[in-house]
Amino acid sequence: MNHINEEYVEEYIRGIIPEHKGYLKNIEDYARINNIPIIEREVAQLLKVLLKISKPKNILEIGTAIGYSALIMATSTEDSCKITTIERRLDMVEMARENIDNAKYRDKIKILHGEAEVVLPTLGDKYDFIFLDAAKGQYLDFFNSCVDLLEDRGIIMSDNVLFKGMVATDKLVIRRKKTIVKRLREYLKYINHLDGYESCIIPIGDGVALTYREE
Ligand code: SAM
Repeated sequence: MNHINEEYVEEYIRGIIPEHKGYLKNIEDYARINNIPIIEREVAQLLKVLLKISKPKNILEIGTAIGYSALIMATSTEDSCKITTIERRLDMVEMARENIDNAKYRDKIKILHGEAEVVLPTLGDKYDFIFLDAAKGQYLDFFNSCVDLLEDRGIIMSDNVLFKGMVATDKLVIRRKKTIVKRLREYLKYINHLDGYESCIIPIGDGVALTYREE
């Protein structure tokens, strides 16, 4: 129970999504058994649909883990689309590399090992789709580094913004998560009132925010 939707709604939505097969299913199973957080199935579907509509040419992801969402993005975009993904943990980078090689997407997905806050200022490219899925307390900093890298009419998608419902009500907040919750609230307020950007919050998975940069 993640306190975002009623359990029966979540179960219904998950039940209707077709099962992945092959390497995506294997990665989902591995992540579940080993407690590695990856995007929820309904968030993966949202990501696929958004990418098929927006047809980005250059994607940036913060938070690779074992490469699941990077592979979801690789399979949902045109062959010419490039994906750069940043991960701080070497063990994750190694597993992601193996998964990406197995899926034969080595040429499409580039993994950068390091802290996003250090790596982001070194990037020279522009991106038309940016996916934030790393340290939740740092989203505002990530966002502000990413706006310099975002193309006009580009999209920033941020996962886990409702953080088990805690962001929406103090009643659910546990003491050791207070700072993250405070920072996520600041983040959501910021992106919802930023001139030149249009944002929305979608209560699926653990909460997803979409931010569109106007021309
Ligand atoms: N996007 C992945 C997926 O759905 O398959 C899941 C990413 S997991 C939720 C978050 C990852 O972000 C972790 O592997 C963590 O090590 C990484 N991370 C957290 N903070 C980071 C930072 N400041 N810089 C780079 N990576 C970070």
